[in-house]
Amino acid sequence: MIYPWPDGKKMACIISLDFDGATPYLWNTRQNPTGALGELELRRFGPRQGIWRLLDLFKSLDLRVSVYIPGAIVGSYPDAVKAIAENGHEIGLHGFMHEHIRDLSDVEFAVSMEKSMSAMAKVGIDGPFGFRSPAWDLTESALMVLERFGVSYDSSLMGFDQPYWISKMVELPVQWPLDDAIFYRYVPGSMWPPVRAEDVVGSWRLELEGAKRYQSLFMLTMHPWLSGRSGRLVALEGLLKDYRDDPEIWWTTSDELAHYHRQRFPEGPFHDIRLGSP
Ligand SMILES: [Zn+2]
Repeated sequence: MIYPWPDGKKMACIISLDFDGATPYLWNTRQNPTGALGELELRRFGPRQGIWRLLDLFKSLDLRVSVYIPGAIVGSYPDAVKAIAENGHEIGLHGFMHEHIRDLSDVEFAVSMEKSMSAMAKVGIDGPFGFRSPAWDLTESALMVLERFGVSYDSSLMGFDQPYWISKMVELPVQWPLDDAIFYRYVPGSMWPPVRAEDVVGSWRLELEGAKRYQSLFMLTMHPWLSGRSGRLVALEGLLKDYRDDPEIWWTTSDELAHYHRQRFPEGPFHDIRLGSP
């Protein structure tokens, strides 16, 4: 069944940022912290410079985006987080220290949620929040924790390429071909060089044309420490400018799309999701 976008649009386009700076590295090395500055500084480029350049680019295109931020980043870079909110962008949750959910008990995950929401409250940002799980890792019991915290949608899974329901949660699916990390993430010890920006954007252009043909959701996911680098920004700007005025595209944010899906499909199609089936 073809997903019915509003106003006769052929597809929806959401630009999202996972603004996680060094938190994934700190989580992954928590048992054996090295103190080595190489990857830490590489990632800190995101909250120091990359995010500001991306915000300038979005402003120049009059574009609102969805930004998912771990609580530890909110506490360390409050000015950047406030600027994101003041620019009218949506802010969503992304763990506290980018914890991988499969490493946590439900109680530990609930503590992470509490700490994340209180970090947001300290900079004046209130829910309801959407959620994107760190490393796109989720469990059925974690979904129930999210429901308990009143999370308005999840955006971490790939079971469709249009909005759907999983358990009692609206899911706004992501997908690996639309994640900058699989192309750009080069850290000391990586086995292959990063993909050239023009090739990455060329691939995203094809995905966008495909989304239009199959009437799906183009959920782009970028990380400021990766996509905030200068040449990559130039390439991204070219892509966004080419499609910004396309009348067939609904440019939206995750919270708006989740609201649309809830209103339009409280039951019926896109709802028949059987957990536990292969
Ligand atoms: Zn992340």
